[in-house]
Amino acid sequence: MPALFWRQGAAEPMDSMNPMNRFSRSILFPGIGEEGQRRIGAFSIVFVGVGAVGAVAAESAARAGVGRITLVDRDVVEESNLARQFLFDAEDAARVVPKAAAAAERLLEIAPGLDVRGVVADLDHRNAREILSAHDLVFDGSDNFETRLLVSDTARALKIPSIYAACVGDDGLVAANLPGSPCLRCYLEVLPPAGSGPTCDTAGVVPTLPVLVAAAAMTEALRLAVGEPPSRGLLSFKVWDGGFAARWVFEDAHSSAACPVCAGLRFPALEGEGASEIVKLCGRDSVQVAPAGRERPDFAALEGRLARVGRVRRSAQLLSADLEGVSLAIFSDGRCVVRGTSDPGRARALYDRYVGR
Ligand SMILES: [Zn+2]
Repeated sequence: MPALFWRQGAAEPMDSMNPMNRFSRSILFPGIGEEGQRRIGAFSIVFVGVGAVGAVAAESAARAGVGRITLVDRDVVEESNLARQFLFDAEDAARVVPKAAAAAERLLEIAPGLDVRGVVADLDHRNAREILSAHDLVFDGSDNFETRLLVSDTARALKIPSIYAACVGDDGLVAANLPGSPCLRCYLEVLPPAGSGPTCDTAGVVPTLPVLVAAAAMTEALRLAVGEPPSRGLLSFKVWDGGFAARWVFEDAHSSAACPVCAGLRFPALEGEGASEIVKLCGRDSVQVAPAGRERPDFAALEGRLARVGRVRRSAQLLSADLEGVSLAIFSDGRCVVRGTSDPGRARALYDRYVGR
């Protein structure tokens, strides 16, 4: 197991509490009932990404009585997380504690009988099967498309359902991903390409949006836990301009005939396809992040986004940005050299945050 940190709970068995009391309102709801609550207690979820969406969803899962929870995250708690990320407080940010560890501790306070693990790791094609296996559901609350495709492919390979939950700016998306329904690769054929989009670190996010997205996604998770069929299509949220709107789209979507995953032929992300190549540059306090399928970046769009968070210079061949105490140099062939760190994990996290995919 490639985890750098491990936290295991189960301080007391769940059945030492009176579930009829703790979960009485859930049990009263006819869609759940006693049998549904028992199924929820026997259910397990692995959360990939304990950011704004993942943290709220994980807390909801623990409170709803999900029996076993694994939290996977590569980052530490930062002050800028506190405006919208549940489970973390100012002390966690001051201690620079890993999110997976802080979240596991907090969930144990909320639900002392919970079986919870925090895994501090960057999910990649070498460790994904091992970390995600032996769960009933994968909850994708990650912050980049490389990881999202890996989660989608791995869940399909393991024959585990997954739930996709995302937000940026004032847009949110939720989708259930099961064998027989389109996978994330199929949706990417009908959605705008993932390459040039904004990220929360350049476009920001309405602080209440992750709560809505997480609640909708966890409702789908609980429906799956009690044995209800998942909703079809993508649930799309728009919460600021024009007020609140939520609607299902692509409910009739089918798996793409060209999708190797839905055809059961192969799982490209598990073979390392689409994975960034990350190389420490010798003796230079620099790390190079080379995205797969390198395409010429849209320098004008990148300049516009990065100028909001750092100092940017641009030439025909190179765009550089100074932010968070490092310098990102993005070349016209798509490579990015992060100067000011020798930590490959930090370099990749900075790339995902500010350049995106
Ligand atoms: Zn597919």
